[in-house]
Amino acid sequence: MTSALPDRARDLDAAHAATDLRGRFRLPAGVTYLDGNSLGALPVGVAEAVSDVVQRQWGGQLVASWNDEGWWEAPTRVGDRIGALVGAGEGQVVCTDSTTVNLYKAVVAAARMRPGRSVVLTDPDSFPTDLYVTEAAARDAGLRVERVSPADAVARVREVGDDLVLASYSSVDYRTGELWDLPALTRAAHDVGGLVCWDLCHSAGVLEVGLDEHAVDLAVGCGYKYLNGGPGGPAFLYVARRHQDDFDQPLAGWNGHATPFAMAPDFAPAPGVSRGRVGTPPLLSMLALEAALRAYDGVAVADLRARSLSLTGFFLECLDALVPEVSVATPREADRRGSQVSLRHPEAYGVVRALIARGVVGDFREPDIVRLGFSPMYLTHGDVLRAAEQLRAVLDAEEHRRPEHATRTTVT
Ligand SMILES: *Cc1c(COP(=O)(O)O)cnc(C)c1O
Repeated sequence: MTSALPDRARDLDAAHAATDLRGRFRLPAGVTYLDGNSLGALPVGVAEAVSDVVQRQWGGQLVASWNDEGWWEAPTRVGDRIGALVGAGEGQVVCTDSTTVNLYKAVVAAARMRPGRSVVLTDPDSFPTDLYVTEAAARDAGLRVERVSPADAVARVREVGDDLVLASYSSVDYRTGELWDLPALTRAAHDVGGLVCWDLCHSAGVLEVGLDEHAVDLAVGCGYKYLNGGPGGPAFLYVARRHQDDFDQPLAGWNGHATPFAMAPDFAPAPGVSRGRVGTPPLLSMLALEAALRAYDGVAVADLRARSLSLTGFFLECLDALVPEVSVATPREADRRGSQVSLRHPEAYGVVRALIARGVVGDFREPDIVRLGFSPMYLTHGDVLRAAEQLRAVLDAEEHRRPEHATRTTVT
């Protein structure tokens, strides 16, 4: 059985050769990178593009680049490129701010779109910033947050009925990698006249989200995870076209003004999704993200999803054969799985550190999760097998118990 795995890996890599895009990335030798859902890898051409922005556009052309290099339009231009990856037609996604800030805008704007209603539903197991900022936005907008697991959200939406403002959920759980039913919850919220906001941090770029197809109202997501935009890269905000005129977001800033250079004393929101902008964008980061998104040129997200499911499915197969004692936190059904496989282990932190020492980079999430993200763009089935073999070796030699793997780093 186990001797068959290298053959399986080779066969699967041959079958998926058309979506092997590792040539579009600069990855260090000897590293199996399973953390693209925390910080995506560096695509080829980004360093050169950023150098051009710094040296020629900024250094040479100075302030003229706002016009001549299209700096002012970058948020909507990059937004449209991201939109194409999440099933949004043009003019509905703006690249701006962070996911945290965009979620704040979305929750308050939703409250203003549904006056007289008071309930926001969100996942008790959300990424903490989503919980914090949803509570903060709800307080500012006079709403009440109910924390309901996505598994129970459709039923709760029906009970809340015409008091529902917003169901605000991640489409993929950041810890377990579980993929939730976006179409069903969206339909349920609409049935009672409410709205949805989907957090796509762990979905964008690896699976078909279908924002327009499923009539999603609002969405937010990160640029630096599977989209590979680089550390601290800007996030995105989707506002469905039918809601844009009513999207009254709370952070009125001059970049979101209808006529920013009129320098008018009073705020008037820009038409379209540009009203989601706030202040001057971080252009070095935004143009790095734009260059990074070229890695997706000519690639269909459906094909990446097929490759991703093959990689995670093969990893589960390798675990069953090589590390059967380990507990898998991610659903085994393909249609309930994002692009990661998470393991539960009582000494998860040590396991992650010991794997990193062996060149397999994943991350640790409280309380007991070994989180392994599988970017379909630059990973092969051979990498997947190597990761499982290294996990076997770590556990056999009890390397996760070594004292040097016990001390917590600042960023886990
Ligand atoms: C990564 C992540 C974030 C990060 O938000 P920032 O504002 O970029 O720090 C938020 N929500 C989820 C679900 C995430 O996975």
